[in-house]
Amino acid sequence: MVCERLAFVESIYKNAAVKAWPQLADSVDIVPLVYFKDDTGYINHATERMVELTGATLFECHKDLKLYKYIDPGFLGTFKLITKLDFTDTCLLHYNLPVTYCNSPENAHLSIPAISSTEEWAARVIHEYFHAYQLLHQGTRDIYRQQIAHKMTVDSLNANYIVVDWFKQGIDKENALLLKALEVPTRDSVIICLQAFVQAREQRRDVFEMTYHYNIDLYEDYFEKMEGTARYMEFQVMKNYGNLVVSPTLAAVDTFFHAFKDFKRFNLEKFPWLYKTQRAYRYVYATGMNQARLLDKLQVPYKEDLFDTSISLYAILHQWLEQQERKMKENQGRN
Ligand SMILES: [Zn+2]
Repeated sequence: MVCERLAFVESIYKNAAVKAWPQLADSVDIVPLVYFKDDTGYINHATERMVELTGATLFECHKDLKLYKYIDPGFLGTFKLITKLDFTDTCLLHYNLPVTYCNSPENAHLSIPAISSTEEWAARVIHEYFHAYQLLHQGTRDIYRQQIAHKMTVDSLNANYIVVDWFKQGIDKENALLLKALEVPTRDSVIICLQAFVQAREQRRDVFEMTYHYNIDLYEDYFEKMEGTARYMEFQVMKNYGNLVVSPTLAAVDTFFHAFKDFKRFNLEKFPWLYKTQRAYRYVYATGMNQARLLDKLQVPYKEDLFDTSISLYAILHQWLEQQERKMKENQGRN
């Protein structure tokens, strides 16, 4: 079953890449994925270093997959659904190369009850896999190392949303404006929503800095971009499930696989945790994902070098808005 599940993850990942993030396709064969079942780790796309370090042996599998297997009792019973990258400890599998770790959907379900099928689990694995893709970019690594690590975590940032009432209200209002911008039909009405969004955001950030003498812009931008786009890919995978053909080999062995039945005629409203700040795991997941969707709607080509630099989704949206405002002024001048 390990082989069928990992082949499934690989196929939906490639599919999502082709449909929603073409540059991603090049990374599919680079990022190692370690799947734990009890005390055994199965590595897909293992590097030579990983094989040496773990003493892993080749595991007979699906013809398109080359898996390595090793025993690691340290992982027995622990929950894993994470991408890791370390810059100092050469004993780690994820030294200098991002590695995605997961365990079985059944195990994930025990820690996150919302993961109730292989499909839900695989979408979360893709979220983590996308983090690895982000961290393959030197630009993103440098920003993480030099400006984020040891300074701010996404949980510390999110604590403001949980604890500070006016901050939460501000974020909820900003997200409502993004959702409105996603709904309205004309460019002019999107511009009006975005002007209100930028104004609300700048105001909240100013008040925060005045109150706490601390500027969070850089951190909010970074986590919104990293988590928002990872959530966005998860959403793309879920949205696309209804179009996929059920793999008979997976269906034959995996009772946790529900043949995409929860995803037929995909309706985003059934998954409020994807896009509503009030239901999101952390607010930046939702605000980031909605900004990515809005850039899609506006047909802004933002994906190609997004992770090469520190540019944020918010900065790209802001630039687009300023450009539109300039154009409007120029047109007014002509009339
Ligand atoms: Zn994440």
